[in-house]
Amino acid sequence: MAVDDIGPLRISDRYLHGPGPSSVYPSVLEALGTPLLGHLDPEFLNVMEEVKVFLRYVFETENEFTLPISGTGSAGMEAALFNVIEPGDNVLICTNGYFGTRMAEMVRRCGGVLNEITVPWGTIIDPDDVAAALQDTRAKVVGIVQAETSTGVLQPLDDISRIVHEQGALLLVDAVTSLGGVPVEVDKHQIDVCYSGTQKCLSCPPGLAPITFSPTAMDTVKQRKSVVQSWYLDLGLLMSYWGQERVYHHTAPISMNYALHEALYLIAQEGLEACYARHRQNQQALIAGLEAMGLAPLVAPEYRLPSLTTVRIPEGVDEAAVRSHLLHRHKIEIGSGLGELKGQVWRIGLMGYSSRREALERLLGAIEDALCQQAFPLKRGEALSAMSGVYAAAR
Ligand SMILES: *Cc1c(COP(=O)(O)O)cnc(C)c1O
Repeated sequence: MAVDDIGPLRISDRYLHGPGPSSVYPSVLEALGTPLLGHLDPEFLNVMEEVKVFLRYVFETENEFTLPISGTGSAGMEAALFNVIEPGDNVLICTNGYFGTRMAEMVRRCGGVLNEITVPWGTIIDPDDVAAALQDTRAKVVGIVQAETSTGVLQPLDDISRIVHEQGALLLVDAVTSLGGVPVEVDKHQIDVCYSGTQKCLSCPPGLAPITFSPTAMDTVKQRKSVVQSWYLDLGLLMSYWGQERVYHHTAPISMNYALHEALYLIAQEGLEACYARHRQNQQALIAGLEAMGLAPLVAPEYRLPSLTTVRIPEGVDEAAVRSHLLHRHKIEIGSGLGELKGQVWRIGLMGYSSRREALERLLGAIEDALCQQAFPLKRGEALSAMSGVYAAAR
């Protein structure tokens, strides 16, 4: 392909129901087109202050050190781990899916001594296993994923948080697919370091990683003997820009901060409780519809993650052909299985703006159509009536 063959950018419409990104609120897209300000312009500094207030609201924390890292969720993960781990520190990572594995890899790379609890994908981490592993390892930091996007499991945190703090360790939580869709409750759960991403339940484009550090975590960072392994993600340097001093560190992605401001404004307008209830209800309606078609969710009801549902691929169905039909005929994206679950499940996201009744109706109708193309036996219309039943029962 030569440069002259390339025209201006043209992109088709999509309804995003995969593991992220989710569809973006129209006013968030508009915010991206707002004229730029300089990164030290007083008006932009005000945007930064408001974003921090909004982030404390969704994280449900009073932590002063709360800001959006410039980078995607993985940059948040790296910032979380690198700032509290020094070379030689013992770290315990709980792995029940793809993102636990990624945390473990980052621990190795920053020089931490990796200890892992590994359980089958699709199950939760047992607090007793964490207690036993902490006795053995005396780990300084315990990393765990609250919302495993690869499996659709929502990890309960109460008991684990108590155990981690009894042992004097720090609790580090991945809330990439929970923030804005499921209560994260940083202060209530006494989470020491918690990070997220903008493109899942916040319904913003990918590009920022909200993060928050408890006062205890900040003390740990301040007492480091070695410098943080990453210059870009060094919290001390970042706070000299995001805090009172306003010293240039790197140029904040101005437009992304506008978009995040708008997305968080919308969540605050809706209210956290209403937002969580919407995510829960729409998932119940999705599952009712899928079950009416004869499909089975992977995860036990009590551990289902409202923002992401994994559903087993029925025998005899070509899973890639279904996804391709959804994409090309209905402009809908859903996700395939990852890692241990490759070829076994679809991953269906109902996150933020994608978690709406109209969006779900379109999605269920399209899945029904795609399965009929595969000669899968189902009665047309039953999924939608099962879905409607959930909304009617709630009234
Ligand atoms: C998406 C995701 C990440 C990584 O975020 P990126 O924005 O892709 O870098 C990390 N953890 C979880 C649980 C995720 O779902």
